[in-house]
Amino acid sequence: MGFDINKIREDFPILSRKVNGYPFVYLDNAATSQKPKIVIDSIVDYYSNYNSNIHRGVHSVSQEATDGYESARQTIQTHFNAKYSHEIIFTSGTTHSINLVANGFESLLNSGDEIIISGLEHHSNIVPWQMMCEKNGAIIKVIPMNENGELNLSVFEKLLCEKTKLVFVNHISNALGIINPVKKIIKKAHEFGAVVLIDGAQASSHFKTDLQDLDADFYTTSAHKLCGPTGVGMLYGKEKWLKKMPPYQGGGEMISTVTFEKTTYADLPHKFEAGTPNIAGVIGFGEAVNYLNKIGFDDIENHESSLLDYATKKLKTIPNIKIYGDSLNKTSVISFNIGEIHAYDIGSILDKFGIAVRTGQHCAQPIMDYYNISGTVRVSFSFYNTIEEIDHLYKSLLQAISMLS
Ligand SMILES: *Cc1c(COP(=O)(O)O)cnc(C)c1O
Repeated sequence: MGFDINKIREDFPILSRKVNGYPFVYLDNAATSQKPKIVIDSIVDYYSNYNSNIHRGVHSVSQEATDGYESARQTIQTHFNAKYSHEIIFTSGTTHSINLVANGFESLLNSGDEIIISGLEHHSNIVPWQMMCEKNGAIIKVIPMNENGELNLSVFEKLLCEKTKLVFVNHISNALGIINPVKKIIKKAHEFGAVVLIDGAQASSHFKTDLQDLDADFYTTSAHKLCGPTGVGMLYGKEKWLKKMPPYQGGGEMISTVTFEKTTYADLPHKFEAGTPNIAGVIGFGEAVNYLNKIGFDDIENHESSLLDYATKKLKTIPNIKIYGDSLNKTSVISFNIGEIHAYDIGSILDKFGIAVRTGQHCAQPIMDYYNISGTVRVSFSFYNTIEEIDHLYKSLLQAISMLS
């Protein structure tokens, strides 16, 4: 069938709307992706036709809801090639997933143990570890970044020692789009017996990840970054680590027996899914993964990389532009500033032309501090963006510059 961009765009109702009189050009995909009709319909279908609580009802509709929920778990297990479906825990998203692991490791680490995190992290991957370290006395070490936005791996290798218990790195930096060499990092960390968590929130919309091949101990993502609904995501954990970690929240669904003397916990994955989950969201998550696979990740990668090449060449012709993280190994994100113009002012003018971009720190203040800037303009492309949209961005940027200087 081939990759038919016009046909793909028809799948997304929002892409045909106008903003400030212009066709809507959505270039803020790293913040959240748009949703195809098939995902929206799956959520409406659930609430219209088989809404019920799961795992507890004897009645038919509860069984249908349970089947829908559990079949999404299998879809996601297959997509990420996890060994067991009970290694996929549904959470409210990456932030929740990371907090779950940080909470779980609070009692597994001792004072003086070391954890290594990267200097490219999203705030949601820094703060939970700081909170954990305050409680158990573990120490955070940071892998520094280089001028081009890549991690300094020789420093990483020097930081690794017998005291290293955990390593946390994002698969792709959301602020710069750099793809980190996570496979290499995992292999090195494992030589010291350290556990590795990879934050895959930015990666899973761009390419397929084989978790058994990658050998990460934990991996997280958020459905809303990959065409699914907000407020739902996954924590993948190797069975042995999920069994070792204590539960995060107590409540219904996560118990086996409860008496006032003692409670025993349910088996995986239910031990970590306390309370009534986001059933509709999980079903939408599964539908989104199916949708992306139907389009095909090879085509997605090809189209996105041609958008990135085209946009990078075009933007580089703008006088005084500085692109941050201008590495070869990156996904379709361009983070930049133009001369002394404030990123926010550029973003506001682009909005007048119907273009949505992100400005500011992108939840990654340490990266901004490294470059000694207050923020950047970030454009991030998805497979449903077009060359014409980049031309509109380019022209609008030139207009913005002439208005602001
Ligand atoms: C979006 C994002 C997060 C946070 O995801 P939530 O869905 O807001 O929990 C964490 N890390 C990275 C790299 C992200 O892109």
